[in-house]
Parts: sequence; structure tokens; C-alpha cells
Amino acid sequence: MPSPALTRKPSTAAPSPAAALKQMLARRQNLMGPNAPLFYRQPLVLARAKGVWLHDVAGRKYLDAYNNVAHVGHGHPAVVKAVQRQMARLNTHTRYLDAAVLDYHERLLDKFPRALGSVVLTCTGSEANDLALRIARLGTGHQGVIVTDWTYHGNTASVSEISSAYNPRPVVPHVRYVRAPQAGGDFVEGVRRAIAYFRDSGIGLAAMLIDPVFSTDGLQAVPKGQVKQAVALVRAAGGLYIADEVQSGFGRLGRFWWGFQSHGVVPDLVTLGKAMGNGYPLAGVVGRRKLIADFRREVMYFNTFGAGHAACAAGRAVLEVIEAEDLLANARSVGAALADDLRALKDEHSCIGEVRGQGFFLGVEIVRGRDDPAPDAERTAQVVERMKDAGVLVSNIGRHDNVLKIRPPMPFAARHARLLVRALDQSLRPAR
Ligand code: PMP
Repeated sequence: MPSPALTRKPSTAAPSPAAALKQMLARRQNLMGPNAPLFYRQPLVLARAKGVWLHDVAGRKYLDAYNNVAHVGHGHPAVVKAVQRQMARLNTHTRYLDAAVLDYHERLLDKFPRALGSVVLTCTGSEANDLALRIARLGTGHQGVIVTDWTYHGNTASVSEISSAYNPRPVVPHVRYVRAPQAGGDFVEGVRRAIAYFRDSGIGLAAMLIDPVFSTDGLQAVPKGQVKQAVALVRAAGGLYIADEVQSGFGRLGRFWWGFQSHGVVPDLVTLGKAMGNGYPLAGVVGRRKLIADFRREVMYFNTFGAGHAACAAGRAVLEVIEAEDLLANARSVGAALADDLRALKDEHSCIGEVRGQGFFLGVEIVRGRDDPAPDAERTAQVVERMKDAGVLVSNIGRHDNVLKIRPPMPFAARHARLLVRALDQSLRPAR
């Protein structure tokens, strides 16, 4: 007779949600290694998304005020259909000729000033920045790069060297860090010092590469004229200006298609990503024709998936939806009203400091109190968690981790903004 223990059927009862989550976390750590970034103390397990809403596996819905990749809205039917159709018909690479691929390049370039006349497509923002650095270094014959000192530009070996936030700061002779512009700051002076260092060390200056809204730096208001002044210094020293529009591009700021337009100076190279394919990997570098031609002549740059047929179909659909749905105007008007409503919350909540940003790229600074403007990272992290519990997703940024980052998909409407403000108001009140 086998023992009862051997004949007992395995339990078929589903694990409790908490046990299932614990299992999944353990499995993830085992497969992906420890410390792979993850949001929230109780991480979300998402099942589907549409427009500005995300739904988890338990059927709970969350208002998305964070995800900028789903630029024209999660699962936008025009983008989905365009990609599906193209995948079914043909999806190869740029070593074959294709008019639709060229059409997309044209439509994209139409959104830029005439001085920027060529484009090289890639798959990720990191690749775009990596490529921009190569183009700048080859074009100038120099290696030195100036970047801000609390920022993120991507994950390749050379781009990690210019990404100082959330990484041990790389100590390499060809990168110099400056503090992002802010009232009373010394951005322009920092750029001047970095240029002098590159001159004196013989390294020479290739470029200044910046995110035009300095988002990871904390989305500080940029004093008028500072970027323009810094670019003039860079150019006088023979360097190029690279604008990283991976976060700020495609109309997110409402007033413009590109963040660099808020500074009144046209870059030599612009890098794009995230929003560009609405979730289909698509990124790239737009630049001065001669710079890109000189690079192309020297380097056989080929990117298997960059500018593939399906990627270009996604990109084209995104541009069309932005225009058809007038999403810049939406970001401008709803973003402005949302910023006003967030400012109005200051009367109730003394921990709200500055409300910054424009369009659908807003930051709410969380400080100790009205009389103590010290950053309060702990409270900020708590607010992010509580807002999630209230059904609204946001995040935090800044060198002190105390700026709530509000960066919703572009179809975010006034009614969504009201839900967000209510959730923030609730999340700042003492827990009941
Ligand atoms: N530049 C900026 C400003 C970014 O925010 C990011 C990604 N967060 C990147 C570049 C890198 O893009 P990707 O993750 O697509 O490589």
C-alpha cells in the first residue's frame, strides 16, 4: 500500500493574490537578477490598456499620468492597424528601396526647421544618442562632451558615460558635467569652464548634449536665454549642440513640436525616441545634412530594425494621429489648466513647492513645509504610492527625488486632469 502522502492529489487551489505576487517577484529576480527596476511597493501586474487607462489582472483600472511612450494613447487603433497591416504585407530593412519608408522620413523632417535636413532611424533613444555622439565626434574630430550632472540619456557604453543620474558617475576625461540651468544657478559659467577644460587638456570639444526640458534634473524653469548663451559658447569653441528630445518631443510641451524650440536656437543634431512609434521601437537622429553626409561617407551605419517597414508605418500613424486629433492643442490647454489646479492645491497643502513645466510635462515639487523648503523625498515616494492606491499613476524625478513627474499620454482630457488633482489632494491628506 502506498502511503497516503504519496497518493494525495496536488492542491489545485489558486494561490492568493499576495502569494502569486510573491512567487512572481521571486521568479523575476531569479531570471532577471536582483534590482531590475520595478515600480511600487506592491508592483502592478497589468493586463491591458486603452487610451489613458491601464487595467491590472484583478480588473482594477488606473489613470495613466506617467507613460509617455503611449504618446497618442495606449493601443491607438490607427497605430495598431498600421503596424498589423505592414507586418502582414512586408517588414524588412533599409537595404531595399521603399517609397513608404522614404515618405515617413519626409513627413518627419517636415516637422523640423529646414536646417535639419537628414534623418537616421534607430530603435531606441540610447542608440540615437550613441549615434549622435559618433556623428559629432567624427564631424568635429574631437571627443569632449558637456552634459548636465543629474540626467539620463540611455544605456549604451558611451551613453552611460553621459548619464549621471541613478548610476555611479562615470569618471572619464572626455565628459564634463554642469549643473542644469535654474534661477540663480551657474549653467552658462559651467559650460564656459568645461570648454576651457577641453581646450587646455587637448581633448577638444565635440558637443553639448542636453535634454531641453532638463526633466531628470528636476524639470527646473530655465532662465530665459541661458541655453542660447551656452550654445553660442559651444559653437564658438567648435562644438555642436545636440538636443535629446526623447522625452520632450512630438508636441508634449503643447506650444511646440520640439522642446528645443522653447530656447530659440536650432540644434545641430536632435535625438528622438519613446513617443515616436507609440510603443513600436522607433527612434532616430535628425541633423544637419552635411554632418550626416560626412558621417555616412566614413561609416557604414546600418541598423537592422531601425527604419524597417513596420517601424515607419507606426511612426507615420503617430504623426497623423497627433495632427488629426490636434494633440498639441490638447496638451497646451489641458496642461495649462492642470498646472493651475495643481498650484491651487498649495493653499491646502503646505508641502507643495513649485509647480513646474509646460504642456503635458509637469513637475510638482514636494517640500517639508511652507517655512521649510527642504526637499522631502520620503513624502514624495509616499505620495506616488498613495496616488497609485487612489488609481492614478505618476512618478518622481529630480536630484533630490522630490518632484512628482506628471507626463500622461497626449489624449489626457480635462476630466482626467480633474481625477488626477483629486487623487493628489487625497494623497496629501493624513491617512485615515
Ligand atoms: N534620453 C532620454 C532623455 C531618456 O529619458 C531616455 C529613456 N528614459 C533615453 C534617452 C533612452 O531611451 P531608450 O530607453 O529608448 O534607450
